Amino acid sequence: MKKAVFLDRDGVLNRLVFNPATGAFEAPQKLEDFVPSPGLGSALVPLIRSGYLLFLISNQPDYAKGKASLEVLRAIHEKLDTELKASGVQFKEYFYCYHHPESLVPALKGPCGCRKPGTLFLDQTVEKYGLDCSASWMVGDQDTDVECGRKAGLRTVALQTPESAKRRGQQRADYTAGTLEECSQIILGFSKEAFRAA
Ligand SMILES: [Mg+2]
Ligand SMILES: [Zn+2]
Repeated sequence: MKKAVFLDRDGVLNRLVFNPATGAFEAPQKLEDFVPSPGLGSALVPLIRSGYLLFLISNQPDYAKGKASLEVLRAIHEKLDTELKASGVQFKEYFYCYHHPESLVPALKGPCGCRKPGTLFLDQTVEKYGLDCSASWMVGDQDTDVECGRKAGLRTVALQTPESAKRRGQQRADYTAGTLEECSQIILGFSKEAFRAA
């Protein structure tokens, strides 16, 4: 059976951006605010080499909330894709939920099953690729990521950066890391242990 690492995007693959209007660190809402996280290649290439399929699962409600255009969200995605490929990192698939319960765009109001902690994207991917959930992981910086991964039976790593630390609270992940590279080392270390034990 195949194994996978599901990754959140904002605060994991790219930096969060301080929004003076809300006083919070948020997803980039302008293309020029998109800054990739350090060490994308050094963190993610070893996972691929160890046989993990990579998937992105990201909530992107800013169009529904009227904070960013769909064109900008697409442009940010293209920039991420370019950065990843330039680092030698190929994701299998990218999944974005554009819904939000308070959407100003009626069609995006939901309710939907894909907004994390909803597991719709995850469940569909497990089915499509025949993934072994007990050997697969969720990496994210928010409670909703941890909750989503846990509900689907994955191991979870919470990435706690200074920006995202404030936004986490109730959900306890299996592991906690300070950088994306640390997340990767935890997963790779775990595979080695499991291999030794087998
Ligand atoms: Mg995030
Ligand atoms: Zn959705």
